[in-house]
Amino acid sequence: MVSLELMDKLTILADAAKYDAACTSSGLDRGRRRSGIGSTMAAGCCHSFSADGRCISLLKVLMTNLCVYDCQYCVNRRSNDLPRAAFHPRELCELTIGFYRRNYIEGLFLSSAVLRDPDYTTERMIETLSLLRRDYGFGGYIHAKAIPGADPLLTHRLGLLADRLSVNIELPSEQSLALLAPDKGRRAILAPMGQIRDSIAASGRELARSRFAPRFAPAGQSTQMIVGATPEDDRHILALAQSLYDRYQLKRVFFSAYMPVSNSRLLPSPAEFRPPLLREHRLYQADWLLRFYHFRAEELLSEDAPDLDPRVDPKCGWALRHMERFPVEVRTADYEDLLRVPGIGVTSARRILTARRVGGLTFLGLKTLGVVLKRAQYFITCGGRMLEGLRVRPDRIPGHLAALERPGLEAVPEQISLFPPLGQEA
Ligand code: SF4
Repeated sequence: MVSLELMDKLTILADAAKYDAACTSSGLDRGRRRSGIGSTMAAGCCHSFSADGRCISLLKVLMTNLCVYDCQYCVNRRSNDLPRAAFHPRELCELTIGFYRRNYIEGLFLSSAVLRDPDYTTERMIETLSLLRRDYGFGGYIHAKAIPGADPLLTHRLGLLADRLSVNIELPSEQSLALLAPDKGRRAILAPMGQIRDSIAASGRELARSRFAPRFAPAGQSTQMIVGATPEDDRHILALAQSLYDRYQLKRVFFSAYMPVSNSRLLPSPAEFRPPLLREHRLYQADWLLRFYHFRAEELLSEDAPDLDPRVDPKCGWALRHMERFPVEVRTADYEDLLRVPGIGVTSARRILTARRVGGLTFLGLKTLGVVLKRAQYFITCGGRMLEGLRVRPDRIPGHLAALERPGLEAVPEQISLFPPLGQEA
């Protein structure tokens, strides 16, 4: 049974953690039905992907929201007047184990504001995770935030207890960091990223020698970047994401549309600002192209067109700007060219290569291989012919593709219900 005081802390600290986007979704509130069992709580649960690709639910919570820093974009900043709380390590263990035993969660996402200083905060996180692993025998998934500025030895100990570590890059440029989060610096953020990368690689080498070697963050590292609070364009943001993947071998860069939680004159005014959820969505699509479709950031955007087109997804946008590369003949094109066709994904491109070894391809066959013909039809030929009956003027193609997106575009802003605007919090 969770005591009332502990429940209060959980409410405050799970709510304070909701702006961290390093998980894929937040939970929902649903009471128990009369004729059934099971209920959910909005605060505190999120989903993430483990090292083996499974989707798992996590208790997402802060160790504390008492922060000595004053990052202007953050609800937990020192100067914000809001209820504060801090978990004792053992309380957090009891909570995690209690939720785990009730089958609410499969793991823990533990972050923290900076209590006293980065070392002290990290020590408390280490104490919690050590207790969980050692005294409670918890073998479930743990994602922990590494605190920039902490002693590298402490970050190392944290990585030996967690499955995944993340260090938030926070803002897309050093200038924006200096303006809005003067207590943090780009170097202090990148140093632990480099350390984690090296420790993961060293751990992999040790494990190749002995399967009993300690594992360091076996699910890798990730980061989060706030979008829309500062003036950087999508080109800048994607180039940064790409360099983080290249240099630090991150598993994910999470983009978080800025939620107006502050009246600071350095930030967009909450009265006029709408969180850029569609922009966040487009950045995730572009990020997918970087990670799985072999695109480079500089291909997707240029100095003349520095922002992603809100009307069509980034792959369609790229194809429309490079019509000289199309149509692609699906019976002969190589894997890389197939991957560039809107409507053809990684799986369907592989299936095309396999299928055409054993027989001729047809448009009908492409559909059964998973090709989305509604998009692909403008960009492919099969046996030298376009799809029968397709009569579209080239200048109308962007409009047709944008029309296919409309249901999606309308759905995206619905996410906002989980993040009430300033002054309307429950
Ligand atoms: S360090 Fe900055 S971003 Fe992190 S909790 Fe404190 S104020 Fe918020």
